[in-house]
Amino acid sequence: MADTKAGKKKRILSGMRPTGRIHLGNYEGALKNWVKLQDEFDSFHMVADWHALTNNPDAAHIHADTLDMVIDWMAAGLDPKKCTMFIQSHVREHAELHLLLSMATPLGWLERCPTFKELYRDDDERKGLSYGMLGYPVLQAADILIYKAHFVPVGEDQVPHLEITREVCRRFNKLYGKVFPEPQAKLTETPRILGADRRKMSKSLGNHIVMSDSPDAIRKKVLTMITDPKRPRKNDPGHPDECNVFTFHQLYNKNRDRIPEIEKGCRAGDWACYDCKQELATALVEWLEPFREKREALAADPDFVKDVLRQGNLAARRAAQAVMTEVREKTTLGSLIADD
Ligand code: SF4
Repeated sequence: MADTKAGKKKRILSGMRPTGRIHLGNYEGALKNWVKLQDEFDSFHMVADWHALTNNPDAAHIHADTLDMVIDWMAAGLDPKKCTMFIQSHVREHAELHLLLSMATPLGWLERCPTFKELYRDDDERKGLSYGMLGYPVLQAADILIYKAHFVPVGEDQVPHLEITREVCRRFNKLYGKVFPEPQAKLTETPRILGADRRKMSKSLGNHIVMSDSPDAIRKKVLTMITDPKRPRKNDPGHPDECNVFTFHQLYNKNRDRIPEIEKGCRAGDWACYDCKQELATALVEWLEPFREKREALAADPDFVKDVLRQGNLAARRAAQAVMTEVREKTTLGSLIADD
């Protein structure tokens, strides 16, 4: 499948942990760009289910969350005819390459990793830290290198995360001879949308708007959104550039003529935040309608979704097996006795 889609396109690899239905933060932070990039690149999109176990080894929810997430990917525009969607744990070559890369990765690189350092500093977090948590950047490197990905789509703040993959790549190529291209960051612009409480939108903080939320749920959530903190009274002049509600209008209000009007009314102090949020709720419900319809159709046909993943797993496995054959040859492992 990937071969016919790929042609001479450069390859990208990106993934998400299976966290169930996606929210607008997931969409703006990654998925929206994936949809754009699938026309230009040979795109591999991975359900990172092994990564989901690094801080919680309970896998009971992963199947349901995987299906929910992939249904959302497709409802948002990922097209199985244009890209490869697959599940990490169904391509075991990731694990084999991870093991080999881990032998070539100095411990210090992993201990310096900001996420690990932060968790290690906290007495309570440290007790629950797994070996997998320390090694996850190496698994991430394997995820990328096993497909010889040329690019990884990331926001500017994630560039340092890719650097360790590039270091591991250079180290491996130096030790065994060049196998992998050094993956580059494909910088993607992501609008900064916040949760209802003005913190980063996140499921764990409960401040998120799920794309498949019902119109009623969306209305309720929008009405709880914190607005411009510098506008305590209704008639005070507002600062739309500091207001999350205004950012949402810019992204989701299809009536583009309203954006400058809202901005002007807000700055003049004659447009009330309550009205502004009511209008946003209506606009957002409308904007999400095509997504919701497509999602309902996909959710009613789980066999189709599973088949997309089955085909994706096969294509990913084919690509990964070819690279692992090369890796085994370079490292000379596995060549003493010919396999039957
Ligand atoms: S009027 Fe709208 S843009 Fe202005 S502060 Fe209130 S919610 Fe934000």
